[in-house]
Amino acid sequence: MSTAHESDGALGDLIDPELPAATYVLEPDVVEPLTRRIVTSHAAGTHRSTSPFTGAPLAAYPVSSPADVATAVERARAVQAGWARTPLRERTTVLDRLGALVLQRQSEILDLIQMESGKARRSAFEEVADVAIVCRHYAVRGPRYLADRRVPGMLPVLTGVRVHRRPVGVVGAIAPWNYPLSLVLSEAVPALLAGNAVVIKPDPQTTLSALWVAEVLQDAGLPDDLFLVVTGGGDIGAELVEHVDHIAFTGSTATGRKVAGRAGERLIGATLELGGKNPLYVAADADLDTAVPGVVRACFSNTGQLCMSIERLVLHERIADAFLERFVEAVRDLRLGSELDYTADVGSLVSAAQLERVTAHVDDALAKGARALVGGVHRSDVGPYFYAPTVLDDVPADARCATEETFGPVVSVTRVASDDEAVRVMNDTEFGLNASIWSADVARARALAARVESGTVVINDGYASAWASPAAPMGGFKASGLGRRHGREAVEALTEVQAVAAQRGARLGVSLDSLYTLGGEAPSRALTVALGALRRLRLP
Ligand code: NAD
Repeated sequence: MSTAHESDGALGDLIDPELPAATYVLEPDVVEPLTRRIVTSHAAGTHRSTSPFTGAPLAAYPVSSPADVATAVERARAVQAGWARTPLRERTTVLDRLGALVLQRQSEILDLIQMESGKARRSAFEEVADVAIVCRHYAVRGPRYLADRRVPGMLPVLTGVRVHRRPVGVVGAIAPWNYPLSLVLSEAVPALLAGNAVVIKPDPQTTLSALWVAEVLQDAGLPDDLFLVVTGGGDIGAELVEHVDHIAFTGSTATGRKVAGRAGERLIGATLELGGKNPLYVAADADLDTAVPGVVRACFSNTGQLCMSIERLVLHERIADAFLERFVEAVRDLRLGSELDYTADVGSLVSAAQLERVTAHVDDALAKGARALVGGVHRSDVGPYFYAPTVLDDVPADARCATEETFGPVVSVTRVASDDEAVRVMNDTEFGLNASIWSADVARARALAARVESGTVVINDGYASAWASPAAPMGGFKASGLGRRHGREAVEALTEVQAVAAQRGARLGVSLDSLYTLGGEAPSRALTVALGALRRLRLP
């Protein structure tokens, strides 16, 4: 990836707002081949994205109009039926190639993800690995998820019933900025596998990454127009909901409610992957040597801007002090940086708005009596939107960060006297996306997991082993969402189910219809006898 300036990898020296021709971090020869893919009539203006690492202009690209959204969905609809008829083996081959290409070309997308989102490279690599895992999973398991099923018919032998999965048509996907590669593809891969077309509306800050996906999908052999990108903000997202046959939304709970409302009115399916206030419990018997580094990753990966990230630490009082002493030390050692390599542990927040939200949450908690054990400061010495990884103790219940999702590198501590109290504290939230339990006794942790109201519960890990197990459904209880991504569940959400029931005995005169030709009470009597026999034989 070439940038507009020579650099030793750090982007801190790239701002030159005095020179209009040189103000964009990304060169036009990188940006234009991507932005040519946007479905736009160039009637709705231009969006300028900002480099989170420096605050400098990153790139400019045209925004789609509402009419462009309609055009995109029409174009996708025109090719979808042909794709649905394409043999499944050809569709899985495209996904398999996509996974291979993303791995091969990872340096391109790692640079782009870092530049658009400000994250550390190791967090960006999680996206590359995720896409490779998801593509492989659906390429291998997809045919099984889509296979027709025979189910018992009304009259054994005489009624043959098969259940089929049909594509819904055009799937709309609305994605946030925090995982610009993963969250574009985690819906698109099962959607395409099932024979749908996809129109995606990425976040304005991370649109280039989505356009790169469109390029690589084409290189993987996906026919034209099956994956189209429209650009813009919430209005364009809302417009997409008006045209598609299913909406897969990932973002905040507030926006998710609006999307669900409109999807409900239109009677289209909606998959909603929303926010969280995820708890992590360290039980009295946890091995602190493994827990400390694992919990650091669980809280601060992707600068805490991860839907599954841990924002509430629940510590058994027997180990709380020992754990915190080592944990705070490890958090203090985290290295912040903007290099396009693997030297930094933690990257920047994505934007000024995100910095404002994190700062407001921490300042509010401190003003209400909380203590920062480490962090609690803006790190403008590293970059304009960097914030120090922060651990807060004594957070009062009325502090914003006690209940609202912060979506940043901030975690608060609660001490408990028992596992029962831990479960109560973990469930004391409107959200239910992810939870984590650390204990030497996995069976005991599983028993606790059964009592936790959360779509995923991860034992002796923060989030990765649930996220990276693509056969396992992922999503939220309560205000964290509806429906699931990954696994069989995603394919089921992105297909219509159709039952085809065939009468086999018609030509022999023993069909359901021939029964009704008997007239009078005879059909009822015959059916009563048959139903009694089926009950005695315990046939379903
Ligand atoms: P957001 O809701 O503000 O925006 C998400 C997307 O929705 C963007 O593309 C935005 O342009 C679009 N949008 C905004 N208003 C819209 C409307 N009225 N109709 C349709 N689309 C609209 O969310 P955000 O702040 O950008 O993202 C962070 C949030 O996403 C956090 O709450 C995080 O927890 C959540 N998230 C959830 C998951 C998950 O899998 N559960 C994954 C990642 C992020």
